[in-house]
Amino acid sequence: MDFSLSPSLFDLQQRTRRFIAERIVPLETDPRCKPHGPTEELRRKMITMAREEGLLSAHMPAHLGGLGLNHMAKAIMFEEAGYSPLGPVALNIAAPDEGNMHMMEVIATTDQKDRWLRPLALGEIRSCFCMTEPAPGSGSDPAMLETTAVRDGDDYIINGVKWFITGAQGASFAIIMAKLEDGRATMFLADMDRPGIRIERSVDALDSCFPGGHGVVRFDNLRVPARDILGEPGEGFKYAQVRLSPARLTHCMRWLGAARRAHDVATGYAAKREAFGKRLGDHEGVGFMLADNELDLHTTRLAVWHCAWTLDQGELGRHESSVAKVISSEAIWRVVDRSVQVLGGQGVTHETIVARIFADVRAFRIYDGPSEVHRWSIAKHIMRQQRDRQPSVGVKS
Ligand SMILES: Cc1cc2nc3c(=O)[nH]c(=O)nc-3n(C[C@H](O)[C@H](O)[C@H](O)COP(=O)(O)OP(=O)(O)OC[C@H]3O[C@@H](n4cnc5c(N)ncnc54)[C@H](O)[C@@H]3O)c2cc1C
Repeated sequence: MDFSLSPSLFDLQQRTRRFIAERIVPLETDPRCKPHGPTEELRRKMITMAREEGLLSAHMPAHLGGLGLNHMAKAIMFEEAGYSPLGPVALNIAAPDEGNMHMMEVIATTDQKDRWLRPLALGEIRSCFCMTEPAPGSGSDPAMLETTAVRDGDDYIINGVKWFITGAQGASFAIIMAKLEDGRATMFLADMDRPGIRIERSVDALDSCFPGGHGVVRFDNLRVPARDILGEPGEGFKYAQVRLSPARLTHCMRWLGAARRAHDVATGYAAKREAFGKRLGDHEGVGFMLADNELDLHTTRLAVWHCAWTLDQGELGRHESSVAKVISSEAIWRVVDRSVQVLGGQGVTHETIVARIFADVRAFRIYDGPSEVHRWSIAKHIMRQQRDRQPSVGVKS
């Protein structure tokens, strides 16, 4: 097994690291960073900078302005991007746009790509992904989908409410999951300025890294032409899987970078600050926290790389992405929490970036599948394997 980076991948890693450190980190204190993410003006400024640097939308193919990275290369680059809360937005690889781009590249028609994917990949517009609904609709259990799409001539009429829709405010278009009259889930593309789409409010969440925040979106007799179905009717959940495994993994990659940043800040503090006659890091209690951080970062990286490799083999990676998601989201949370502790009082203030990362990362244990749901699915996988296992010759129990 070869863990070394090819010269071109090493170069990409170093270029991204430099770009984030020199051009993006200084913008973290820009007044255009708001509770619901960077303003559109700041986002566009960063997109322009990334384009000039040749780092924009690197996961997209060259004809869409990207570098055509495979999953393994993304693991390297996206970790670097995540080192700043602004990095993924700057490089146009933040959720939900990055996952939407990936899915549309696989299943959208040529017309849909020209109309929506191309400007999205160029960073000219943003998008949102509308799946989660308030009770009694779909949340952890996507099958509880309540939003309906009823055929009317050449169109569908969509009704329902979605919430926690990241980036809704300011998005140019939405991918909407709705069920047809026969109950089959289907994805639709719709411009956000169509009559029948209303953003009722933005939810005030802990995080502040996603442009457009998280919206409550109502569809009230939204009319969508049948040609704007994304993929085939009735295949919505299948396509959600196309989106979810890689999108879940790219979250792990980006948050790994954020956790590494928190650890670096904490380590810097522990190396300078003294208490009881020696540096904090020389006290076993603090040194062990830093050591545990290192263990969690390393375990996360290995899990991410393994899943990335699996996806690069053409597999769907459902099980592997569940494993990587639980390992990463929980390990990353521990790293950031320990970093707050090492920083003492400063850890819970905005004197350093760590408190912001702490607030940003908490939801990662919930979205793209809460840990409990992934554990449940991992357990089902184990039991299926056990059922299918042939009894070993000569083994009685
Ligand atoms: C910051 C953020 C951004 C988001 N962005 C988007 C977006 O852009 N688009 C979108 O469609 N959705 C988005 N979501 C929604 C997200 O996907 C859902 O929050 C998630 O799927 C959980 O659904 P829920 O909140 O309805 O929780 P519920 O389904 O009500 O579950 C609540 C809790 O119950 C537990 N639980 C559920 N099922 C099981 C089980 N089988 N076994 C054990 N425990 C279980 C878990 O602990 C879970 O956290 C976002 C959420 C957040 C917080």
